[in-house]
Amino acid sequence: MSRRIERLRGLMRGEKLDGLLVGHPANVRYLCGYTGSNGLMLVTHRDCWFYTDFRYQEQIKTEVKGCRKRVLVRDLVSHPPPEWARPFRRLGVEENHVTLGRFKQFRKRFPKGRLVATRDLTLELRRTKEPVEVAMIARAQRVTDRAFKDVLKLVKPGVRERDLALEIEFQFRRQGEVAFDSIVASGENAAKPHAGFSDRRLRKGDALTFDIGCRVGGYCSDMTRTVFVGKAPAELRRVYEIVYEAQRRALATIRPGTTANSADAAAREYIIEHGYGKRFGHSLGHGVGIEVHELPSLAAGSKETLAPGDVVTVEPGIYLPGVGGVRIEDMVLVTKTGYRNFTRSGKALLEL
Ligand code: ZN
Ligand code: ZN
Repeated sequence: MSRRIERLRGLMRGEKLDGLLVGHPANVRYLCGYTGSNGLMLVTHRDCWFYTDFRYQEQIKTEVKGCRKRVLVRDLVSHPPPEWARPFRRLGVEENHVTLGRFKQFRKRFPKGRLVATRDLTLELRRTKEPVEVAMIARAQRVTDRAFKDVLKLVKPGVRERDLALEIEFQFRRQGEVAFDSIVASGENAAKPHAGFSDRRLRKGDALTFDIGCRVGGYCSDMTRTVFVGKAPAELRRVYEIVYEAQRRALATIRPGTTANSADAAAREYIIEHGYGKRFGHSLGHGVGIEVHELPSLAAGSKETLAPGDVVTVEPGIYLPGVGGVRIEDMVLVTKTGYRNFTRSGKALLEL
């Protein structure tokens, strides 16, 4: 943990910050290990303080590492601790995570500090996964692969999307947490990339998309598979093969030095060539870690370059309004020479 805080100080130097307030839970967890909800850190070049309230005072004794700990009253800002009265030339505030109300409170409580809206420096550190983080992500994906394998046994006409989602989430909760709202989308619902799940009952010929992930030891998995209820209709079968090949092409580009744009283009150009360019409206993928959407983003036009330690998804899709859709998503680790695929679930077209 202290090593992470040291690396954060390096980024703070680059921004000429003499202090940084970190309150976003994923960032706090990464820097000091705290898993509770109401936590705040003040990082300076010499010190690191962690603040929480009474409810967590037992938990932080063992959980929080590398910081001086203070238990404040519940809103954390009404009785500021003495170090907040120190002068700060540039005190960073996470601009993507602090409300305007909170910002105003900080302005009052740091009377000699000049607050500076700062990009998410901790998120940038979190991008490069350490071996211990990679191990957790691999475990989370193993749980996901198993839950998916089991739920396939329940797929048949008449079953509700909701029942399938609950079966998956039951397994997730037994071994960890649900990382994000599960998507179990059938028939015309599969044409909506972020459909969630509904009371719709499966019908013969439906495309059925599962986009699911769990969190184990604080780290997420993220996987999408589309299967068919009975025989796949001709167009959706064709679409499936296009998405599958587009994903294969994108995966083949994954190695250090590949730009996010060219990875995205590898899938997108293939889909455009086959006439479905307008039906692939989202980007190719995203980083995964403590949160399900992290850096880097694999988007068209992005100049970001893949580097060892990145964990990213590769998830092209084609969506046909009123008909259905297909998305295939794997999660991979960028290694020194290429990538390692965490996702073991099969990808050949499956008719159940
Ligand atoms: Zn997903
Ligand atoms: Zn994803």
